[in-house]
Amino acid sequence: RLNQLLQEIRGNIRVMCRVRPMLHAERNNVESVQIMDTCQVKVINTSTRRENSFEFDRVFPPTDPQEVIYYEISDLVMSVMNGYNACVMAYGQTGSGKTFTMEGNKKCLGINYRAVREIFELAECRKETHNYTISMTILEIYNDQIKDLLDITPRKIEIREDSKGNSHVQGVDPMPVNSYADIISAIECGKSNRSVGCTNVNEYSSRSHSIVTIYINCVSEEGNFSSKLNLIDLAGSERVWKSEAEGLRMVEACNINQSLTSLGKVLYSLAAKQAHIPYRDSKLTHLLKDSLSGDAKTLMIICVNPSQDDVSETTSSLSFGSRVA
Ligand code: ADP
Ligand code: MG
Repeated sequence: RLNQLLQEIRGNIRVMCRVRPMLHAERNNVESVQIMDTCQVKVINTSTRRENSFEFDRVFPPTDPQEVIYYEISDLVMSVMNGYNACVMAYGQTGSGKTFTMEGNKKCLGINYRAVREIFELAECRKETHNYTISMTILEIYNDQIKDLLDITPRKIEIREDSKGNSHVQGVDPMPVNSYADIISAIECGKSNRSVGCTNVNEYSSRSHSIVTIYINCVSEEGNFSSKLNLIDLAGSERVWKSEAEGLRMVEACNINQSLTSLGKVLYSLAAKQAHIPYRDSKLTHLLKDSLSGDAKTLMIICVNPSQDDVSETTSSLSFGSRVA
């Protein structure tokens, strides 16, 4: 009840900012980000002496561990278990901490692992009254093409809308999962399929959107429902200059730009309650349509690197976030 009330006050789109710590190699760099309070950050460009302040629903300082970030997301997971669709996405330039936030590593598990663990825990707690069936897909959008990372057999994968306006990925069947261990092995399988046919995995992953979707189906005395949780590690938001990029690299950059811009426009038009929401402008927003609209809940985490070297990308990521907030 309290959770629902809080959600209503906060609205359906929340934007937070996570400032990662300086890495060892950056230890002598000058900082660009100053955290003013739990909701406000200031970015200082030491060469232009420009200062910009940004406000978010929450700002996580570099000292905040993974569990503090997850704490802000667990009410979303609860909503999904109660029948709402939701999206959690990490936005930011390459190297800003998106993958660390969503996936993390063995010692510091990220949102994806914590969310699925909680889904199974809640299903177990409620098993007397609710019968949950869980399945998942791991997709990637690269150059505006959808790839199924759990089954890389070449085939046509398309987004279709049903009569209710819900989006479906035609050609991809969610894989049933019965336990946390099943999900872990699916994620491992997705990771190994990701690197098939590419020479530099890191570079490749920074140019593609990775989307883990958990499908929930529930049968209870009160009725049946289906919902889904989308966990998204977005492509790097850095602007690519013409001089650095030619040919394919430039095509990729344009596609990334276009889909992130379209995501921004969709979130902005939703927040502004506009009549037309341009979901069809990109595969990403079309795919997420029913997880962004209606009473679905969205949480965007803007990841930034606190170092002066990246001050302009940091400013641009935070501006993106504050536009949709
Ligand atoms: P991105 O996915 O945005 O390109 P990564 O998640 O790969 O960025 O992060 C870049 C580097 O910074 C990695 O070495 C990662 O382990 C480290 N890092 C990111 N965020 C944190 C954090 N909150 N605490 C410690 N290390 C972090
Ligand atoms: Mg990454």
